[in-house]
Amino acid sequence: MTEQTLWPVIAIDGPSASGKGSVAELVAKAFGFHYLDSGALYRLLAYAAHTQSVAWSNESALADIAVKMDIRFESGEIYLNGEHVSAYIRTEQMGKGASEVAVHPQVRTALLQTQRNFRKSPGLVGDGRDIGSVIFPDAILKVFLTAGVETRAQRRYDQLINRGDRADYDTILDDLKQRDLRDTQRSSAPLIQLPDAMLVDTTKMNIAQAVDLIIEAYKKTTKIT
Ligand code: C5P
Repeated sequence: MTEQTLWPVIAIDGPSASGKGSVAELVAKAFGFHYLDSGALYRLLAYAAHTQSVAWSNESALADIAVKMDIRFESGEIYLNGEHVSAYIRTEQMGKGASEVAVHPQVRTALLQTQRNFRKSPGLVGDGRDIGSVIFPDAILKVFLTAGVETRAQRRYDQLINRGDRADYDTILDDLKQRDLRDTQRSSAPLIQLPDAMLVDTTKMNIAQAVDLIIEAYKKTTKIT
C-alpha cells in the first residue's frame, strides 16, 4: 500500500446533470476533503482539441494532447496551460465534445494518472462516470447519483437561463439522452451502477438532502459519530 492509497475516497458517479458536481463539492467541504471534477478534464481536452483544430474523433492526437495538458484548479476556477478557461468549458458544445472524446480508450488511459494524483491527505471526493469502477475501485464509499432525464433536462435548462444563456428545453433533453447513451454504451469504462454503490435518486430530492444522505452514509461506513 502506497502512502497515497491510505487517503479515503468517496466516489460519486452518475449521468450528466444529475447534480453530482454540486453534491460532491459540498460533501468534500463537509469533511475538508479535496474535490476532483473528472468531467472537467474531458471538457478541457475537448476544448484544447478544438482550439488546435484536432477532431474529437482523432484518438491518438487526443491522447497526445491529454498527457501534455497543464491543468490547474484554483479557488473554483480552472486554468489550462495558464489560460483561465472555466467559462469556455462549461458550454453545451464542450459538454458534447467531452462525451465524444471520452469514448476513446487511449484518452481514458492518458487521463488515469492525472485523476489518481488528486488523492491526497486528508481525503478526496471525486465525481464522474468511472470514479468507483476504474479510477478508485477501492473507494470507501461509492454513490450512484441519478435523476429522471426530464428532471435533469429541466435543471440544465434553468441553469443556462439563470446565467443569461439561451436554451431550448427539447434540444437539451435530446442532447442528454444522446450523452446518456454514449456514456452507458461505450466499451471503455461505461457508466454503470456498481453493485456496491449506494443509489441516490435526486428526482424528488434537493441538493442538501442528497448531501446529508451521503455524509451520513460515510460516517456510518467509517464509524464517525
Ligand atoms: O460531468 P460532465 O458532464 O462535466 O462530463 C462531461 C462528459 O465527460 C460526460 O458526458 C462523459 O461522457 C465524460 N466523462 C467521462 N468520465 C468521467 C467524467 C466525465 O466519460 N469520469
